[in-house]
Amino acid sequence: MTTTAAAESQPFQAEVAELLDLMVHSVYSETDIFLRELISNASDACDKLRYEAIAHPELIADGAPPAIRIAPDKAANTLTVADTGIGMDRQELIDNLGTIARSGTKSFLAKLTEAKDGANLIGQFGVGFYAAFMVAEKIVVTSRRAGSDEVWVWTSAGGSGFEIAPASEEDARRVARGTEIVLHLKPDAAKYLEAYEIERIVREYSDNIQFPILLAAAEG
Ligand code: ADP
Ligand code: MG
Repeated sequence: MTTTAAAESQPFQAEVAELLDLMVHSVYSETDIFLRELISNASDACDKLRYEAIAHPELIADGAPPAIRIAPDKAANTLTVADTGIGMDRQELIDNLGTIARSGTKSFLAKLTEAKDGANLIGQFGVGFYAAFMVAEKIVVTSRRAGSDEVWVWTSAGGSGFEIAPASEEDARRVARGTEIVLHLKPDAAKYLEAYEIERIVREYSDNIQFPILLAAAEG
């Protein structure tokens, strides 16, 4: 028998589907916070790598130092947030980006069932990674856990689920360590391709980040 490296579809946990539906149809105007959430996750991932490298120095011996890179691409209408942190293996992608473990998001959802205006609750609670669906119609996450030979790709357009597939050779080469998140922006989110907008948001919300945040020159 041969094994094929096919994409596999998986459903979101019901609470995630509910949250994503809200994000996709959000009329909440403070959408800038999505970048804060992605940068904070990237920073956490760099922290985790630094910690694991104390016991396993080989994890950072050959790779790039922990950093965060933001790259707008006008031609492709994408905004990429990439880090050279700890990365996620296949199961971590499924568990971390398919279920809700955070208590903050859980209480957000509890409040949501009581509230008439869910959108205004977004600002009061951190909604984490899923906030990116306020500005993106599709998200592609490519990740390599530090030290691993495997690279996996998580793709979702919101809705009821996501796909998980092994990365192509080209994608695997590009993501030498850590996580690359590509946001395919909604038509009304094009302002996030402008360097000055990105710089403004990073200054406003991510001033406290301890790792270098590099803004790539805009393509396209
Ligand atoms: P929180 O950061 O509060 O845990 P998020 O929704 O922001 O919640 O992220 C969920 C989880 O997904 C994180 O706890 C982490 O395990 C994983 N994750 C998200 N982004 C990254 C990343 N860039 N690198 C590694 N893991 C990540
Ligand atoms: Mg987070």
